[in-house]
Amino acid sequence: MAILVTGGAGYIGSHTCVELLNEGYEIVVVDNFSNSSQEALRRVTEITGKSFKLYQLDLLDKEKLEAVFEENKIEAVIHFAGFKAVGESVELPLKYYQNNITGTIVLCELMKKYHVKNLVFSSSATVYGMTDHVPIREDAQLGAVNPYGRTKLMIEEILRDLHHSDQTWNIAILRYFNPIGAHASGRIGEDPTGIPNNLMPYISQVAVGKLERLTIHGNDYQTKDGTGIRDYIHIVDLALGHIKALEKIKRRSGGVDAYNLGTGKGYSVSEMVDAFEKASGKIISTTISRRRPGDAATCYANPTKAKEQLDWHAVRGIDEMCQDSWRWQQNNPTGYVKKVNKESRTPVQSNAAVFFNV
Ligand code: NAD
Ligand code: UDP
Repeated sequence: MAILVTGGAGYIGSHTCVELLNEGYEIVVVDNFSNSSQEALRRVTEITGKSFKLYQLDLLDKEKLEAVFEENKIEAVIHFAGFKAVGESVELPLKYYQNNITGTIVLCELMKKYHVKNLVFSSSATVYGMTDHVPIREDAQLGAVNPYGRTKLMIEEILRDLHHSDQTWNIAILRYFNPIGAHASGRIGEDPTGIPNNLMPYISQVAVGKLERLTIHGNDYQTKDGTGIRDYIHIVDLALGHIKALEKIKRRSGGVDAYNLGTGKGYSVSEMVDAFEKASGKIISTTISRRRPGDAATCYANPTKAKEQLDWHAVRGIDEMCQDSWRWQQNNPTGYVKKVNKESRTPVQSNAAVFFNV
């Protein structure tokens, strides 16, 4: 029996594939590489010494996706595939609703047809909107403030309705806070397209000399030093949260639950700059601008539910997050670009699937 990982070549997906393979799971990856590279998956085999199957396809292509269910014995799905750029979602809302929501519906229709009712879904702390009530619990009021966030909120509702209609569905909705860092090997990490919007990839590109200076969006918040506070979580801790969620849903006979995956600790932008300077030995030049529209002052999780029900909590601190981000950035200043298929372990074509062999 295999775990189907949609979006498995992406930032969170690739790290989760490593942890799944390390735990002995068989995995099947589906990705259309709209925001990722096959090279990430090749490196997953390199890190783990394990082989797996990849289907390069779009979730919206129901016929091709159905072949994956036909050809493999899938016991559960971890669903990462989706677009995630907030700014782009404001410009192109239909692109986001189409890809994220329709993609999820197509996936769930096939899961239903093939009696696969175990699902772990990538949601986001963005579903909590602009709340200033921290730490945030799962039962806080929901209300996304942009189309991307609304796709997550709508999918959560769709999944709750699905479970309501058939209570044998086992669904874990994971609301991520701010994933950063990279695998300790420095071989896989976050590889944003263009100029990063998020803080940590921006800082690391300043450190490596690709960008000149970090613009701090506001230093007049009601926080310890005036800059925004977030709950940064190491990507490997986040990946391990998926394994725990998977174990939980496989144990039970039906249910739908949302879990915060965060550390419960908040760090300011200035603290993150300091931590990155310490980890990298580089000076991060900064300039202050006005607040970024739509930004909350402070956002961090109450992660108690995940601790109690999933037996999961984050263990890696910000120094490790920054050291691992830096190792990845330094070793891969251009991300995965131009490294595809250069080395010997080129994937072998076999029907629709590609086998990543050790
Ligand atoms: P990512 O862009 O690195 O990975 C997403 C993967 O999905 C990519 O490999 C992309 O090619 C693939 N994909 C997108 N649409 C597809 C489709 N229609 N068919 C097949 N493949 C498709 O993003 P990530 O950071 O790894 O995020 C994974 C998930 O977690 C996303 O759903 C995202 O919204 C969610 N999330 C991410 C963050 C974050 O800060 N990174 C925070 C909260 C939630
Ligand atoms: N931030 C910043 N400069 C940047 C990017 C982000 O000052 O170039 C700040 C942002 O205002 C917020 C924090 O860093 O306070 C985290 O932002 P990010 O976009 O990474 O995450 P999100 O706001 O979506 O939680």
